[in-house]
Amino acid sequence: MSRSPLGFTRRQLVASAAALAATPFVGGNLATPAHAAASKLGASQPTHYRFKLGDFEVTMISDSDAFIDGPWPLIGGNAAQADVDQLMRDNLLPANKYQPGFTPMVVNTGAELILFDTGNGARGFVPRPAGGWLAAQIAPAGFKPEDIDLVVLSHGHPDHIGGLYEDGKLLFPNARYAVGAVEYDFWSPAGKHSGDLEKFSALFRDYVVPLAGKMTFLKPGADVSPGIRAVESHGHTPGHLSFRMESAGKQLFFLGDCAHHHVASLARPDWHCVFDVDPEKGAQARKRVFDMLATEKIAVSAYHMPFPSIGYVERLEGGGYRWLPHSYQLNL
Ligand SMILES: [Zn+2]
Repeated sequence: MSRSPLGFTRRQLVASAAALAATPFVGGNLATPAHAAASKLGASQPTHYRFKLGDFEVTMISDSDAFIDGPWPLIGGNAAQADVDQLMRDNLLPANKYQPGFTPMVVNTGAELILFDTGNGARGFVPRPAGGWLAAQIAPAGFKPEDIDLVVLSHGHPDHIGGLYEDGKLLFPNARYAVGAVEYDFWSPAGKHSGDLEKFSALFRDYVVPLAGKMTFLKPGADVSPGIRAVESHGHTPGHLSFRMESAGKQLFFLGDCAHHHVASLARPDWHCVFDVDPEKGAQARKRVFDMLATEKIAVSAYHMPFPSIGYVERLEGGGYRWLPHSYQLNL
């Protein structure tokens, strides 16, 4: 007798389907009393997502569910608004709001727990309650903050360093840290910047500079841990780093902030991003990295793609690229 995955026999399923089919549909006048209306629960989105990468285990943790006005002009500020809006409509997306991921990543190498970027914290781009979730979400994702061995920062922006502290204390008290040497030198001086850059620099001086004694200053090509290597992707910020990791023949590329919208940044990598310190250099890095990822067809962890922010980059025939979200292929 064949059994369904839930343990019913085929005969039982056929019998219950027949019983359902035999039940007359009752219209507006139900014979039985109506149930009380269930209260609405609001939209619900997962806050962590775990998958295998060879012998590594990788956990994506959501730091925000904020909606942002855009994508134009935040993305495509050097293009006509009509073109960006039309691309959104062509992809069944609204033209006036988008929901980026803010997705820190924990890699368990078997020897170490390594956290890549720390979300918004209390002082990031996305204020609480819509952002700054990492401190609250790390335990449900299966980790104790004191067990994190190494925190790697792709760059110095507030939505990546803001979660280093919680209530004035280091959130990951036993961790070592790593950041690009060029990045550290760009943000750490006082009196160098003005405007938004000075705001970001002030947070960097408050949060990252005090960790210098526990910090490894990375150059592109440096290994942060066996199997995990820093890759130069300067442009979004002057010292921005991506990371390539490999375990048991499986590769993952941690993109950081080379891209900010899963449709617009990929379809038109030449469209400028307002968050890029050097928008033209950011566009060049985006094109170079997408070209590599589409050629190699390796998995990508992309901080600002919609949660869980894991996918692949496909090259389109007419130019540009497309984001293909991960489904199950890494878990085989
Ligand atoms: Zn960011």
